[in-house]
Parts: sequence; structure tokens; C-alpha cells
Amino acid sequence: MRAVVMDRIGGPLEVREVPEPTAPHDGVVVAVHATGLCRSDWHAWAGHEDLALPHVPGHELAGVVAAVGAGVQRWHAGNRVTVPFVCGCGRCAWCRSGNAQVCPHQEQPGFTYWGSFADYVAVPAADTNLVAVPGAVSFTAAASLGCRFATAYRALTGRARLSAGEWLTVIGAGGVGLSAVMIGKALGANVIAVDRTAGALAAAAALGADHTLVADDADIPALIHEITGGGSHVGVDAVGHEATCTVSIHSLRRRGRHVQVGLLPPVDGHPRLPMDRVIAWELDVLGSHGMAAADYPPMLALIEQGALRPQQLVERIIGLQEAAAALPSLDTAAPAGITIIDPRADG
Ligand SMILES: [Zn+2]
Ligand SMILES: [Zn+2]
Repeated sequence: MRAVVMDRIGGPLEVREVPEPTAPHDGVVVAVHATGLCRSDWHAWAGHEDLALPHVPGHELAGVVAAVGAGVQRWHAGNRVTVPFVCGCGRCAWCRSGNAQVCPHQEQPGFTYWGSFADYVAVPAADTNLVAVPGAVSFTAAASLGCRFATAYRALTGRARLSAGEWLTVIGAGGVGLSAVMIGKALGANVIAVDRTAGALAAAAALGADHTLVADDADIPALIHEITGGGSHVGVDAVGHEATCTVSIHSLRRRGRHVQVGLLPPVDGHPRLPMDRVIAWELDVLGSHGMAAADYPPMLALIEQGALRPQQLVERIIGLQEAAAALPSLDTAAPAGITIIDPRADG
């Protein structure tokens, strides 16, 4: 099969023929129809994760089950499926309680083993990790769920417990930030989007953001306190930077909830955060790490009803060659919206 292969950290990526994966006893092999290009792939390429080389990236996938291990109960060849980027072991207490997103024995395609920038990818513990994609939901839309959209959904629902009528600030209007804007509006919140670029803010406004703020030299927290009459109830840092995390925390009202979604890998040391404000105002600082397959059905129901439209966030569909060329520059030249790779587009 064809795959995007990384031979060394920070090196060029190459599309070449590699052996197809085989189905684990409890897992499946999926023929990839769509897979998202994500900033997390850049973090792995840049050496912020432990990888075995050579490596194949890709963790936001949707496709058709092509082969099934002997121990799998619920899935068959031909099923349309997607998968969370965190795959649980299926056996531990966390997985059995529906929290595979924090499984201590988790696998992540494209990080802990070869991922989905390829014609085929293996998925372990299929009965725990696979999600059925309804016929009305395209592979492109389904692939846009596994990481950024589902993470934003869980950050706002399962973690921040955002309610209708509350104020939500979203810092960073890339894939995960725009997802948070769309989901926040669908949940009935008032949404403020903050970003450095006018194009990203225009996209946020088109998705229903009530206010957009350019993150230049202005005092963003002061502006947000003014707009909201005392601060947002919920803030999301979708960028992953000491400065953006601090803006989110300072923008909250008393007893507000901050959710950290953008990755803060400790390559530059751990961030300095305003814990004085966290204590004095009794703020909640929450982490969010994807979403377990068990939590997908309510989100998929909103997509089938048309209340959520993740496909609107997809800006372009490219082939494996273009993906190999684009990944190294994602940190400095991240395009607006979500980029989806179709391995069959240039095959
Ligand atoms: Zn587990
Ligand atoms: Zn991702």
C-alpha cells in the first residue's frame, strides 16, 4: 500500500510502498477514505512525541472495515467507521466505565503505531474504539470529528458543562477553535472568538460567533469583561501557548471554567499561569483529551439532524503527496479550517 513515511524527526516525508497492516486479534484494518491533517501531526514530526522510526502519521480517520480479527464481536467487513484519536485497551476500569480517552494502556494511530496517512490502518480493541458512521454522514465529515471536533465537543459538554445563555470565549480560530464556536452556538451560548488573523475571525463570524476580537496589542481580557458584564463563564484555549492560556483565564468571571485543549508540550518548560486569579476567583482549570467512542452517539445525532455541520469546517481535500509536502510547514503556515486527505485522490 502507499503511505506517507517519516524516516527521521524533522526530516522530509516521502510517499512510498509499505506492507499493509494486519488485523490484531481484537482489532480491525480500515481502508482509509478520509484522514485529517492536524497540528498534532506537526508536533510529532518536530520531535515532541516519542516515535519509533520509520513512522506513518495520521490519527483523524474514517473509512470502511476491510479485515476483522477473530476476537471482534460487533464489526464486519464493509462497515463505515471512524475512531477517536485515543484508542483504549478495552479491558481496564477506565475503558469499561466509558472513559477510554484516559486509558493508561491507550494506543494512538499516527503516534504509538503507524497511522492513517496510508491506504490502510489498523485499529486495536475494535469493540471499544470503533464508531459507526451513519449513511447520511460523509467520510470527510466523519474524519473531521476524531480529534478536533470531538475534542471541542467534549471540552464544552463533558468538561465545562456549558449551558445555554452563558458566555464562551474561544482563543484561536483554527480547526478546534472553529469547532468550539459552532458547538457553542448550537448549545445556545454567546460566543466570543479571539484570533490573530482577520480570515480566521471572518470564519468564526460566519459560524455564528457573536463577537470577534483581533489578538493584537489590545487588552483582550478587559474587552471581554466589558462585553460580557464581568467575564466569560467558560474559556477555551485552542492554541496551546502560555499567553493564550493566560488570556483565557484572565477573561473568566468569578467561578468560571477554563478548558485547555491546545497542546502545551513541555519543550519550552512548563507555562507560567495566573494561579493567583485561579485561587481568588475559584476558577476551574480543566484538561480535555479527545472523546471516547462511547460518547459519540449524542454528537452524531446532532450532526444527522443538521444542528452541527462539521463538513463546513473542511476547507480542502488533498492527496498523500500534498500532505507529505504540507506537514512540515503546518506550524508556520497553518491554513484556515480543516484539511482532509483522501489517500485515493492521487493514487
Ligand atoms: Zn483501557
Ligand atoms: Zn488531530
